[in-house]
Amino acid sequence: MYDVTIIGSGPAGLTSAIYARRAELATLVVSGAQPGGQLTITSAVDNYPGFPEGIEGPELMERIRAQAAKFGVEFDLGEVTAVDFETKPFKIAIGKRNVETRAVIIATGSACRWLGLESETKLRGKGVSACATCDGFFFTGKHVAVLGGGDAAIEEATFLTRFASRVTVVHRREELRASKAMQKRALDNPKIDFEWNSTVEDVLDPAKNKVTALVLKNVKTGETKELPVDGVFVAIGHEPATGLFKGKVELDAKGYVVTRGTRTSVAGVFAAGDVQDPRYRQAISAAGSGCQAAIEALKFIAGEDALPGW
Ligand code: NDP
Repeated sequence: MYDVTIIGSGPAGLTSAIYARRAELATLVVSGAQPGGQLTITSAVDNYPGFPEGIEGPELMERIRAQAAKFGVEFDLGEVTAVDFETKPFKIAIGKRNVETRAVIIATGSACRWLGLESETKLRGKGVSACATCDGFFFTGKHVAVLGGGDAAIEEATFLTRFASRVTVVHRREELRASKAMQKRALDNPKIDFEWNSTVEDVLDPAKNKVTALVLKNVKTGETKELPVDGVFVAIGHEPATGLFKGKVELDAKGYVVTRGTRTSVAGVFAAGDVQDPRYRQAISAAGSGCQAAIEALKFIAGEDALPGW
């Protein structure tokens, strides 16, 4: 029997583990399919406080993991295969292993959606990025493309004009999904132009180990052309990792866990990080909500929090 079982081992999960152990809770972290989460596929992290020289994503996660281990957090490297939140204590299956736990923190994160092109995968971190906040700085004075037509794409494009000399938004339709206010800001920005009705057929040039151009196809005319760019930011949405929790806690229309603070619709089950946050999606905001979830779990276990769910 654990006091708290944390599902996921990105910044949210591991920060909640540190706080839970420091409060002397018997704490299990189930690391999941991608131990360390999205930061392990990121290169330089320049915006995490405390690292003025910057730090590589995998190293940052290893340090946070080591900090959690130092306090006696137990790790299970498996993947959660089923959860039962209807009986107390809660039950969690990790393959063949079944554990009981007084509280649960869901910190399974989200994954950014990629186009799925081989060239895109090969050039990730070499000109292909999914985070303007993280990587925009590297494109100072360059021409970059942003893929997508939602709020995230337009926000990324607008942010990138701080660094890039030119930003081309590539969208598969001729109408943006982004809010009118965001659209206006982008349409009025002289550094931003648009390639409408266009899909990306290929990212050039893996042979050169850097991005040199996009091959675009106009979906109306069928014509293809090359758009020379130095970098590409993919902003076509994220998918929260909540398949396991459908029907177990309340999810919104896009599949994110609905939270108030870090409470979910089930008393004793909390959620932290990107799995409940489509808006900020930063390592530091995930870590912050992990801290909050652990404090909420502690209060719940101590019986100080009588509210059912929310
Ligand atoms: P959205 O789902 O809103 O938009 C995704 C965009 O990517 C759409 O324009 C979509 O095209 C396009 N797209 C999806 N799949 C593909 C594909 N395979 N190939 C090409 N294009 C594709 O996601 P966002 O990440 O933009 O936003 C997520 C949520 O976060 C939204 O609710 C948004 O409002 C919110 N948000 C708010 C912000 C703010 O208010 N400042 C900032 C960022 C996000 P199509 O339009 O044709 O479907």
